[in-house]
Amino acid sequence: MIKLKELAYDYDALAPVIGEETVRIHHDKHHQAYVDNLNKLLEGSELFELECPVEVLKNIDKVDEDKKQGVINNAGGVANHNLYWRELTPGGSKEPVGALKEAIEKTFGSFDAFKEEFQKAGASRFGSGWAWLVIDGDELKVISTPNQDSPVLEGKKPILGNDVWEHAYYLDYQNRRPDYLKAFWDIVNWDVVGEEYDKFCK
Ligand code: MN
Repeated sequence: MIKLKELAYDYDALAPVIGEETVRIHHDKHHQAYVDNLNKLLEGSELFELECPVEVLKNIDKVDEDKKQGVINNAGGVANHNLYWRELTPGGSKEPVGALKEAIEKTFGSFDAFKEEFQKAGASRFGSGWAWLVIDGDELKVISTPNQDSPVLEGKKPILGNDVWEHAYYLDYQNRRPDYLKAFWDIVNWDVVGEEYDKFCK
C-alpha cells in the first residue's frame, strides 16, 4: 500500500515563489488523490504490497490491461510529486555542486544554458505535464512528459522535475507559466538533486 508522504516543511515555506494555498491544495488534495486512486486500482493484486510508487511503475507489466493506464497515471502522479516536494525542501545549495555540477557543465555547457533548456521544455509542453532533468544511460538529458507519465516508464531516472499542470501555479501565476518556470530556480534544493544523482551513480 502506498502512503502520502508528509511535507517536510510548512505550507508557506515555498512562498512567495509558490504560495501557501497552492502548496496546501496541491499536496493535500491532488497528491493525496493520486495515492488514493492508486491504492484502489492495486487492491487485491500482488502489487498492493509495494510501498514505493517507482516499484509499481517498474512492475507495470504485472497490472491487468484494463487498469494499466490508471496505474500509469496514478503511480506516476505519486512518484512525480514525491520528488517534486523533496527537491523543493527549503535550504541547501541554490546551484549544483560536486559531481552533478561537473556533469551539468559538461552536458549543457553551463548551469545557465541548462536552466534555459529546462525552462523551454516546461514552456513548450502543451497542456499538462512535467519538465525533467533525467539520467538516461550514462547521460544527463532534459526532457518533458505529458500528463503524469514518469520518465521511469522509459527507463530513465528523474532527478529534478517541474510540474507544469495548471494546479501547480495557477493561483500564483495564472496564465504566466514562463514566470513560474523562472521563479522555480529560487526554491530548488540542489543538495537534494545531487543526492538523487549520487544515489544513481553509485
Ligand atoms: Mn501536480
